[in-house]
Amino acid sequence: MIPQSKIEEIIHAAHIEEVVGDYVRLKRRGANLTGLCPFHNEKTPSFSVSPAKGIYKCFGCGKAGNSVNFIMEHDGLGYIEALKSLADRYRIEWPQQENVNIDQEKAIRSEKESLQVLNNWAAEYFEKQLWESEEGKNIGLSYFEERGFREDIIRKFKLGYSIDSWDHLANAAVDMQFNPDLLFKGGLVKQNESGKQYDAYRGRVMFIIHNTQGKVIAFAGRQLKKDDKSAKYVNSPETLLYHKSNELYGLFFAKTAIRQLDFVYLVEGYTDVISMHQAGVENVVASSGTSLTENQIKLLKRHTDNVTVLYDGDAAGIKASLRGIDMLLEQGMNVKVLLFPDGEDPDSYAKKVGSNQFQLFLQQETRDFILFKVKLLLQDAANDPLKKAQVTRDIVESISKIPDGIKRMAFIRECATLLELNEQLLIAELNKSRNGFLSAKEKEWISTEPKEIPHSEELAQILADSPKYEQEHYIIKLLVQHGHKPLEGYKNIAEYILFKIEQDEVQFEHEVMRLFLQEFKNYILQNIEFTTDTFVHHSNPILSSAAASLLVTQHEMSPRWVSKYDVVMDTPEEIMIKDVQSALLYLEKHHLNKLLTQVQNELKEAQEKNLEDDLNLNMEVYKLLKDKQQLISQRIGAVILH
Ligand code: ATP
Ligand code: MN
Repeated sequence: MIPQSKIEEIIHAAHIEEVVGDYVRLKRRGANLTGLCPFHNEKTPSFSVSPAKGIYKCFGCGKAGNSVNFIMEHDGLGYIEALKSLADRYRIEWPQQENVNIDQEKAIRSEKESLQVLNNWAAEYFEKQLWESEEGKNIGLSYFEERGFREDIIRKFKLGYSIDSWDHLANAAVDMQFNPDLLFKGGLVKQNESGKQYDAYRGRVMFIIHNTQGKVIAFAGRQLKKDDKSAKYVNSPETLLYHKSNELYGLFFAKTAIRQLDFVYLVEGYTDVISMHQAGVENVVASSGTSLTENQIKLLKRHTDNVTVLYDGDAAGIKASLRGIDMLLEQGMNVKVLLFPDGEDPDSYAKKVGSNQFQLFLQQETRDFILFKVKLLLQDAANDPLKKAQVTRDIVESISKIPDGIKRMAFIRECATLLELNEQLLIAELNKSRNGFLSAKEKEWISTEPKEIPHSEELAQILADSPKYEQEHYIIKLLVQHGHKPLEGYKNIAEYILFKIEQDEVQFEHEVMRLFLQEFKNYILQNIEFTTDTFVHHSNPILSSAAASLLVTQHEMSPRWVSKYDVVMDTPEEIMIKDVQSALLYLEKHHLNKLLTQVQNELKEAQEKNLEDDLNLNMEVYKLLKDKQQLISQRIGAVILH
């Protein structure tokens, strides 16, 4: 770790206009400087530097940050490397032992880059073997054809073949000057006890695993021989590029469709994803065998809140995976399920009935998860009161995971009817689970540190996605700008805002904004002092860059309901509180509108499909939402008029 005092010394010395000025010709315009953005091509300057705030922001591509962010982005360096480069530039003495960290950072970066080159090469190699070698065509390609995969689909997913030899790939790779060590690390070759290396995927057809940006990060090879005793699929090990639990197969090919249709199908495996694409259903991803992780859900949440889980028709499997679904609910996903006929999976069923039938089946058989769970569990409980009590607890447990109060209430009402129980009884049960749930969440709030830092390009993309999140951005901006200032009755303004957010159960959707909330909460719970600069110079480059982005807004970008006092640096207390209140109210209104649209669609669907329980449930939600909407409108009126 570099001492915080050293970091501050560097940041203090590295004036943003000088650091940027080394690369960009800047012209003064009022308090700021402008120039041509070094991160994207432009003819008129939209890149702005604020010496007073110590930050830069491009209104064209959205990149923003402090001096360290600038060097990281511009020179492609890691955080510590960028600090060191600034220390050199300003002749600040660099702690001796920190060179080790720099070397580490450099080594990791270069290993990542080498692995990427290797993976790109290997993916091409496998594809070439499939289409051009005799063995590949006879064995690999004909296998895919027998499975019914069309040529355009085989090419789209870049499927391949690995020659059935102990060293065909290894030799080709060494010819290309790849280091044998790297081949091993990347999982392309394996090693037996005596240290002899051999091709990991020999004689298998190859599936390529892309990350969200479409980069080749891993492989999976499927066996072809009937008498093969080894694993059906051999997968890449964890590498610097591939963390199995952070990736979803098919997301790169699905993300456009997911956004358009605003929901995603979740399936088990590679072949399901591919077959569904072939059947014309492109909003589909696979968790690849393992159960879903929190990071995978967060990845999905960038694109949609709605997920439909597709189940193979085998009852034991379904019951085992019910728990996993609670995690989706906990992350605020709307969950539906769809059950395939016994013995069929999406892949086999699509092939069996053809694209049209398959699509129709998906449309007609999708069910709400909680209602599905009630009915599934009730089948077994029948007239056994003990079992029914267990079922009730189980269902309430799922309902308690839903972060949205309105939806929780609607489910309670509908389940009370289905279970033939008193609503109050379920509510009491719910409050029990919910208390447990909240304290677990609280612990999580305190203990979690921002973990994996997303790639900055991805971040810029996430931040550029703003208009949808204008209220969230506004609240975080208030927090960053004014959160540390005192407020009567509270530790500071941040505590007040966080308190309101909890009280109103306001949901933040933007991933980075949630990171901010979490960090504020950490500071308050642990009594850590902070100021605006704490965020502008935060050691997590995502937060510093986002803070910079939030602090500089073009005038026309201000939300229409922002009070005109926003430009004043020291907003008077009452105006601030009103701003926070109205921002939160607008956030809730936005959330309600979104829910209403969704419920209206669900209602229509339930009507068309003639599903009585779904219809009741959604009527219930609709009524609750309407009431709440009226309440919010009244409160907005009150805040704005007074
Ligand atoms: P089959 O032709 O026998 O149906 P398959 O290739 O479709 O075989 P399944 O056994 O049906 O494979 O499994 C479905 C999905 O589950 C696969 O597409 C794969 O993604 C995943 N899967 C199955 N077995 C493994 C394994 N051993 N390791 C990793 N993933 C697996
Ligand atoms: Mn299968």
